[in-house]
Amino acid sequence: MKALEEKILQEGEVVDGDILKVDGFVNHQVDALLMEEIGKDMAEHFKGQGITKVFTIESSGIAPALFTVKDIISPAIFVLESEPIRMILKKQQTADSLKTEVWQTEVVSYTKDTSYRLTLAKNYISDEDHVLIVDDFLANGEAATGAIRLIRKAHATVAGLGVLIEKAFQPGREKLESQGIHVYAQASIKAFENGKVVF
Ligand code: 5GP
Repeated sequence: MKALEEKILQEGEVVDGDILKVDGFVNHQVDALLMEEIGKDMAEHFKGQGITKVFTIESSGIAPALFTVKDIISPAIFVLESEPIRMILKKQQTADSLKTEVWQTEVVSYTKDTSYRLTLAKNYISDEDHVLIVDDFLANGEAATGAIRLIRKAHATVAGLGVLIEKAFQPGREKLESQGIHVYAQASIKAFENGKVVF
């Protein structure tokens, strides 16, 4: 997607050798107009596939997922709650006190070098759902694999994974495609060379 690639070239910053910082338009400050274009493009790519829900992981996936939902005419968006492992007890107590039945799965965070747990309330998904996962980045595929585990626990089906930015030099795509998951990346980064992005 040309507009996204241009924005990455203008404002993206390569840090620690293999992390792309996009705080100015995705992760910290959100460029709403760009997100709208991103959502339209995502919806266009996945339209006509009988998607009933769009799934994302808080918090950076929410903006693009909302615009995708708007254009794909899907009735609902899921936000998977994520939490550092140290917060589980507190979160679990909250879930218990609300009498919410949840599925949980653990995911290794690529950027934060830690683990977190994804939580999904059982009452918002069923075996009739065909679910598109939308997230900001695809790197090693851990976050997407965690989301897929939860969708499968509910016996729902996965329509695919749509990401804004794929780091194609990492194994995420291969891991997902080998499980039969369709992956769409709006910007695919081949490499970082001398601190510069190469598509
Ligand atoms: P994966 O689970 O595929 O290894 O990593 C995907 C998750 O890690 C994304 O949800 C994103 O939050 C984070 N991530 C991975 N690589 C990058 C990166 O280069 N920049 C930023 N900002 N986030 C990343």
